[in-house]
Parts: sequence; structure tokens; C-alpha cells
Amino acid sequence: MIVTLLGTGTSSGVPLIGCSCDVCRSLDYRDKRLRVSIHLAVNGHHFVVDTGPDFRQQMLREGISQLDAVIFTHQHKDHTAGLDDVRAFNFLQQRDMPVYGRAEVLEQIHREFEYVFAEHRYPGIPRLQLHEISNTPFEVKGVTFIPIDVLHHKLPVFGFRVSNFAYVTDVNHIAESEQHKLKGLDVLVLGALQRDQHISHYSLEQALGMVERLQPKMTYFTHVSHKMGKHGDVEKELPPTVRLGYDGLKLKL
Ligand SMILES: [Zn+2]
Ligand SMILES: [Zn+2]
Ligand SMILES: [Zn+2]
Repeated sequence: MIVTLLGTGTSSGVPLIGCSCDVCRSLDYRDKRLRVSIHLAVNGHHFVVDTGPDFRQQMLREGISQLDAVIFTHQHKDHTAGLDDVRAFNFLQQRDMPVYGRAEVLEQIHREFEYVFAEHRYPGIPRLQLHEISNTPFEVKGVTFIPIDVLHHKLPVFGFRVSNFAYVTDVNHIAESEQHKLKGLDVLVLGALQRDQHISHYSLEQALGMVERLQPKMTYFTHVSHKMGKHGDVEKELPPTVRLGYDGLKLKL
């Protein structure tokens, strides 16, 4: 399995429009963070988790020409706004794109991409095949995804485990009853927004506390704000088995 971090930035991305802080002006490529998403290549199958506003740019940057399914964590715009661009894969692959999400996510897709489901469709719009998921493991192309039901303030969000890898992005609470699904991991990609506490995301300290509990072999933080500090500075403070993710990072498992 190869996991590519397509984007590692919070909802505004880094740099932030109009901001001239040190992080936003940094020349380090690791301080340029598109909106969060990952690409998974497993047994010759290709998946993305979320299609944020930077989806098109991420597909181009990584040279991705095959996509078997889209799996959604939750319905926030920084995770869904780029869905229209899956039509490129409809044309390339000559088939509908399977999309997986919980009922609330699919309802929102229905509403916000209403033209996709219209009776008389404009030619060239995306062709989607929606699949509802719940908090039970599901299979796509023979690959088993185990949802992890977490909270993002009051909003339920899915993280996903595939084999010894797990991705949990927008989160500030993981119930004890879900934590067992995150034990024995080789790699965990976990949301950590900034140093200060936040209403709907783990702070750096809270994320480190969760890593301490779960003990994955390696952890990469994602959904990072410019308020976290420069990549190079933050990494110096982290334990050796915890790193900040950065856009384009590839993890081989
Ligand atoms: Zn988000
Ligand atoms: Zn800034
Ligand atoms: Zn969110």
C-alpha cells in the first residue's frame, strides 16, 4: 500500500489569503499546505479520501490517472468542494464514480451538486454512484475499510483504517469505544490544527496525548494551520515517531 498525503492544510489552506505571517511567507515547500486529502494505492486499486477544493491540482501534481472510488470523512466544504472534477475520471475510465459516505454526507452531495442528479442532465457533468456507509467495515474493490466514528465538535466524522494504516482528520474526540480500532497501527495520520485549543480540532498537545494512548509506530499530523508554526521548527519539538505531514509525502506500508 502506498499512501500519498495530497493536502495537509486546514480549511483555509496555508498560506492563508492576505496573511503575511512567517509561516505564510515561508519558502519551505513543506509550509505550502493544500486542503486535506489522501490517496491510497492498494493492490493496483486507487482511492481518495475526500475531494477538497484543491482536488484537481492534487490529481495533476501527483499524475493520478486512475481512480476507483471516493470515500468521504464528512461534509465540510474543505473536504467536498472539488467533487465536480471527478468527471475527468468519468471520461478517462468510461464509468460512473463510486462515492462512499454516511447518509448526511450523501444528502449534502445531493443538495449541493443537485445538477448531477437532475432529470435532464447537461452533458459532461460528473457521473456518481452513491453508496451509503455506516459504522461497520465495508469493501471497495476487495479492500476493507474500517470506519472509526469520531467527533468534530458535535459533528460525527469517519476516520478510516485500511490494514495497518489509519487516517483520522477532523477530530477533537475519539470515544474510548472506538479507540481499539486504532491499536497496533504502523502508520496513523491524525488531525492536529494548532498549538491553542480549538472547538472542533485537536490541538498539538491533545493530538500528542492521543498518540501516547494509541502507540502507533509512526504518526503524521495533518489539517495543520499557519498558527502551528513553521514545519521545520515544529518538527524539532516532536518525538522521533511523530512528524508533521506535508503535501506530497508518500508513505509505503
Ligand atoms: Zn477540514
Ligand atoms: Zn499566516
Ligand atoms: Zn471539518
